[in-house]
Amino acid sequence: MKKINKNCLKNHSSLICNICGSNNIYRIYIRKQNNNLYRCLNCNLIFIHPQLSIKELKSIYSKIYFKNNDSQVCGYQNYIGDKSNIIKTSEKRIKDILKIYPNKGKILDIGCATGFFLESAKRAGLDVYGVDISNYAVSMVRKDLRKNIYQGLFLEYDFPDEYFDIITAWDYIEHSLDPKQDIQKAYRLLKKSGLLVLATPDIDSLPARIMKDKWMGFKDIEHLFFFSKRTIKKIIQDVDFCIIKQKYIGKYIDVRFFIKRMEIYSIFLSKILKFFIPKVLLSTSIYVNPRDILCVYIRKKK
Ligand SMILES: [Zn+2]
Repeated sequence: MKKINKNCLKNHSSLICNICGSNNIYRIYIRKQNNNLYRCLNCNLIFIHPQLSIKELKSIYSKIYFKNNDSQVCGYQNYIGDKSNIIKTSEKRIKDILKIYPNKGKILDIGCATGFFLESAKRAGLDVYGVDISNYAVSMVRKDLRKNIYQGLFLEYDFPDEYFDIITAWDYIEHSLDPKQDIQKAYRLLKKSGLLVLATPDIDSLPARIMKDKWMGFKDIEHLFFFSKRTIKKIIQDVDFCIIKQKYIGKYIDVRFFIKRMEIYSIFLSKILKFFIPKVLLSTSIYVNPRDILCVYIRKKK
C-alpha cells in the first residue's frame, strides 16, 4: 500500500463541524486539560477545539499511553498485561461480526494497536490488515501479522477500492482528526455489501448523562469527538451506508480493575467491594457492559 502525501489531510484548525460543515457552533464547558468543548447546533456533534496537530496526535500514543497509572485520564493501565481479557473480548466481537457477515475474506482494523483483535480475527479465518498511529503499538504486533500492519493515520495510506470485506474501528473514531473523511474512505475501500463496524462512547447514553464530566468517555487529551446514535447516523448519510444493527457492547476486565475503576464514581462503593470480594476472585475476568459504548454495524449498499 502506498503512503499518501500528508498535504491530502485537511486543515483542522477552523471552528466548523466535521460532520455537517455548519459554523453554528457554541461552547459548552471547559474540561480539566483546558480543552474547550463545543456543540454543533445543526447536528449535535460535540468536539474539542482547537483540534490537535498530527504531530501532537502522534505524540499521545507512545509507550506510556499503553501502560500508566493514570488511565482514567489517558490511555491504559497495562494494555499488554491485559491481553487475555482483550483477546476474550475480541473473540466475542468476531463471533458477532461473523453472524452478520459469514463470508469472511479481508478485514481491516483501523486503530489496531498491538493487533490483539487481529490475532482473534486471523484465528477465525480472516485475512487481516491493520493501521495504527502508534509506533510503539505497531512494534508490538505479533511478527506473523506485521506484514499487513501500517503505522500512521488511516488517511495516510491508500488501498485499492473495494478491497476489504469488513472494516472495524473499535474505540477509534473519537480519537480521529477527521471522522468524516475516515467514513468516506472506509466506504470506498469496502466491497459491495461489505460491513463497517464502529464502536464509540455514546455521549447521549444514560451513564454519560448521569456521570456528566466524571464519565469515562470524557477522557481528556485523547478523545477529540463525542458521538451519539444521532451523530453516527448523520456521519454516514452522505455515502450509501445503512445501519443494520446497533447495540451497547462491553468488555472483559479483571475484578481488581473493576473495583479500581469504581473509585472514579464512588470511593465508598469501591471500598465496600474491596472489603467484601475475596482476594482469590480479584484476578477473575468478568464481562462488564455499562451500556455507554455504542457498536454500530453498517452495510455498504452498493
Ligand atoms: Zn454539525
